[in-house]
Amino acid sequence: MKKVLAIIALFSFFQNASAQMDLPEFQIEKSEVEGHLRFLSSDALQGRRTGEPGNNLAAQYLSEYFKAYGVDQAPNTENYFQTLNFVATHPPQSARLTIGKTAYEQGDNLLILTGDPTSINKTKTVFAGHGWVDDSHDDYENLDVRGKIVLVLPGTPKGDDNQTVFRSMDKKRELAAEKGAVAIIELYRLASFPWDFFKSYFGKETLKLMDPKKSAVQKPSIVYGWLKEGTKAEMARLQSPKSFKATLSNTGFRENNLPSQNVIGVIEGSDPELSNEYIVLTAHYDHVGTGKNGNGAFSAKDSIFNGARDNAMGTVALLSAAKSLAAHPPRRSVVLLAVTAEEIGLLGSRYYAEHPLIPLDKTVFNLNTDGAGYSDKGIISVIGFGRTGTDAQIKKGVESVGLEVFADPAPEQNLFDRSDNVNFAAKGVPCLSFSPGFKSFDAEIAKHYHQVSDEADTVDFDYLLKFCQSFAHTARLLADMDKRPFWISGDKYEKAGKNLYNH
Ligand SMILES: [Zn+2]
Repeated sequence: MKKVLAIIALFSFFQNASAQMDLPEFQIEKSEVEGHLRFLSSDALQGRRTGEPGNNLAAQYLSEYFKAYGVDQAPNTENYFQTLNFVATHPPQSARLTIGKTAYEQGDNLLILTGDPTSINKTKTVFAGHGWVDDSHDDYENLDVRGKIVLVLPGTPKGDDNQTVFRSMDKKRELAAEKGAVAIIELYRLASFPWDFFKSYFGKETLKLMDPKKSAVQKPSIVYGWLKEGTKAEMARLQSPKSFKATLSNTGFRENNLPSQNVIGVIEGSDPELSNEYIVLTAHYDHVGTGKNGNGAFSAKDSIFNGARDNAMGTVALLSAAKSLAAHPPRRSVVLLAVTAEEIGLLGSRYYAEHPLIPLDKTVFNLNTDGAGYSDKGIISVIGFGRTGTDAQIKKGVESVGLEVFADPAPEQNLFDRSDNVNFAAKGVPCLSFSPGFKSFDAEIAKHYHQVSDEADTVDFDYLLKFCQSFAHTARLLADMDKRPFWISGDKYEKAGKNLYNH
């Protein structure tokens, strides 16, 4: 009797295993994922930088495959696109500021970034502390800065760490404009951010997302920039209450519109009731572009940051899920969302979370995939494992291709809050992120992370296939769950989740 039962159990085990292996995700071939990865990370796509032709070409490629796989359009979209309008700003080629008898030159010891007019004559400087105003503080009290050039210290009265410095820039410019100044110049005093780095970081083209309600480019009101003093005496002089004669001229900044897009598709679930709930799968398809935009070492021979690992791998995993889940839909509906503008501040996913095409309170989970690279081909690293009651599904999905889960690599990096899933988490949607296998930011990761060497020829396609199949299968298992997932008790996003779903 016992023996018979054991045989029956064994038989049904093989039957289940073979039924599982019949699923479309396990029919995907290595040549397919290799082809996708080679195209997306090819030199032709020039590093897929947001708004550039290579980025738009990648989006077009994704939309063609969504269509070919039989994925539906989301409401209010065309060509599977949710358009985001960016504005690129290029600082003036040359500029000159004179204060008293001292002249400062663009690129040398001056960095004018934006603003009008291009020529300011016969004015004076006024030192205005940090140029900061809040409930307890007013640097403009008793100062008349109308028609003048305001000089300020970096940061705010509360601090001058780099974060505070960057975050306060826009507000300080607005305050100076409100007070009637013609320009605001910050005095460079950033010990931990060398001037040469500072110049190349801020002196290049910058991208900003335009408010969808405003159709035209918004002109910054007054001239804004930075200057670096040469000597201690000079530093003391410029931040004294004394006012100096000043002139300022520049060749003018340049702006142009750069549309980019999230690529989004929907697969309707097979269960009449559960299909009203959605699992969102995300992967960012943008990367950092070429040359100095890449913020890394490059040469004349190779200046393209191909982003094969970051994040063509995840994008191919998303395509694999699109194909598999469209061919054999799971119980819940699935949203496929390839986001842009991750590399410039998670802007594509943030835009979607602010302007969702499927209501977020019907979105029960976000499975994201992103990665810096991999250094262990026996594992998939799962960022956020253990936080959403989905461990069994994740483990099963990863083990289906013979790999193991590694939970929360490099905890000091706080990766959960640094990828696109965080924009869903902040709204309350339970989420986690799949990354190619690594345990820490070791030498192998550093070798390719945001480097020109992150190319298809350095990727292991056997591992890529396993990664893609396990991502697709895990998505299926999550979409098939009887009970919808939710944050575990005490998680920092639990409250946001309760608000979203009205628990
Ligand atoms: Zn990435």
